[in-house]
Amino acid sequence: MSKSKIRKEDALEYHSQNPAGKIEVIPTKDSKSQRDLALAYSPGVAEPCKEIAKNKEDVYKYTAKGNLVAVISDGTAVLGLGNIGPEASKPVMEGKGILFKIFAGIDVFDLELNTSSVEEFIQVVKAMEPTFGGINLEDIKSPDCFEIESRLKKELNIPVMHDDQHGTAIIAAAGMLNALEIVDKKIEDVTMVVSGAGASALSCVKILKELGMRAENIVVCDSRGVIRKDREQLDSIKSQVATEKDAHQLEDAIVGADVFLGLSAANVLSPEMLQGMAKDPIVFALANPDPEIDYELAIRTREDVIMATGRSDYPNQVNNVLGFPFIFRGALDVRATEINETMKLAAVKALAELAKEPVPEVVNQAYNQAHITFGRQYIIPKPLDPRLLTTVAPAVAKAAMESGVANAPVQDWEEYKIELRK
Ligand code: NAP
Ligand code: MG
Repeated sequence: MSKSKIRKEDALEYHSQNPAGKIEVIPTKDSKSQRDLALAYSPGVAEPCKEIAKNKEDVYKYTAKGNLVAVISDGTAVLGLGNIGPEASKPVMEGKGILFKIFAGIDVFDLELNTSSVEEFIQVVKAMEPTFGGINLEDIKSPDCFEIESRLKKELNIPVMHDDQHGTAIIAAAGMLNALEIVDKKIEDVTMVVSGAGASALSCVKILKELGMRAENIVVCDSRGVIRKDREQLDSIKSQVATEKDAHQLEDAIVGADVFLGLSAANVLSPEMLQGMAKDPIVFALANPDPEIDYELAIRTREDVIMATGRSDYPNQVNNVLGFPFIFRGALDVRATEINETMKLAAVKALAELAKEPVPEVVNQAYNQAHITFGRQYIIPKPLDPRLLTTVAPAVAKAAMESGVANAPVQDWEEYKIELRK
């Protein structure tokens, strides 16, 4: 599974094999006979059109809208590749489409927008609302992503989520709850130093606060060091996480900290800094592809460290694929009008709880391990765990219902889980 073993030629060959790219559109109804075609298109198609014209909600009954998500990017913050433009982002968006499909049966249209205007982006997505059951915003640079997401959430009646912010935060928070439980520390008491103040880091901070971490126990650093209240030209987004503590650089802030959360750049956490952290330090070094501290180096430096990274070749991978397919599955299935905080927290708790359940043999086999069990090496479920779908999606759906945003509530949960397994 090591990413480093993927060769450039192999990746290019994979994508360029005929047909080029990774996805296609497949009809779901018979289309062999003259009659089939007359049903699928004119004249038969006029009947569902008329029904929907009478009652807009019938669009969910007669079209693919309810299972169709738009993965939308402007190509400005693609993976670790930066602002490479909309065309160059398309392989990533197609890839995301595949993950939605294989993990949760959701169809995706990937849309790469040629615009650098926040307003134009918003207007374009707004105009596409009739087509989609949900909107997954992807790889949009900070701070544009904040305004785009908050405006679209307000102005649309379908679920909208910027996955780079909230997907990451949900998975990281689930892992954090479990790591804290293992070292027997309370979230209300721990101190955390964050490296990075971009889209993903700030969203993690927000959700950890919602889970009980205290604002005064959090110090956030960016490329210039600790974000302090007295910094000149502090923008409104970073000012929300600014500290008054007497620390100026990561190396000052990290002394005695319980938790390090990195969403910044490779190798910013030195072994000396890790040495200075509290007993049983929790280190989430999530920069991709190379973490804030190398996994092997970290565990060599401290026996008592709990480490998570974004990498698939080490334990405790924080990987968004644990979240977005199932969060959207749950939201779509109850026709939620949004993805709200209650739903996100439900996903966090479902993921955290799932990691504590006995692991089925299929998962052990998929990862070629004998007995995966809850502990320092396994704080987050594995992406190939089939229980994710039947655990996280219902939890999100239930939270949508409880928070009053579900237009089509699930009536029978056992029946729903059976449907999910199909
Ligand atoms: P972003 O919006 O560009 O933010 C990056 C942040 O890191 C900025 O605040 C930047 O500071 C800061 N930074 C850069 N170099 C730094 C350094 N040497 N020391 C301290 N801070 C530094 O990026 P993002 O989308 O949040 O992603 C950040 C990293 O996390 C990337 O490596 C990404 O691949 C990774 N990530 C991983 C996951 C996962 O699931 N594993 C998920 C999301 C992101 P300034 O504000 O001063 O520029
Ligand atoms: Mg992304």
